Amino acid sequence: MLGNPNRFSPGQGAFVETTGKRICPSCAGVLPLDAILCKHCGRDLTVPSPTKIVPDGANFAIAIDGEIKLHGLELAKAKRIAAILDEVQKIS
Ligand SMILES: [Zn+2]
Repeated sequence: MLGNPNRFSPGQGAFVETTGKRICPSCAGVLPLDAILCKHCGRDLTVPSPTKIVPDGANFAIAIDGEIKLHGLELAKAKRIAAILDEVQKIS
């Protein structure tokens, strides 16, 4: 698990890798790299989500389909937006 800890690979499915951890795309809970279920919100992390929370300098950004859409968000705000986008994608 060495290497660049801040790597962001759009093809990685539902996860964001940051400092050796993953961030849940639904609740932004920090999870181990090998987590398959979010221990915070119960999301199945094996199902890829187009919405991701990614590190953006000191803040966070929202990426959809690997493309950064919203920059400079506080984590709490990024979590709320990601959760809303996730719900919308489930419905549509
Ligand atoms: Zn979660």
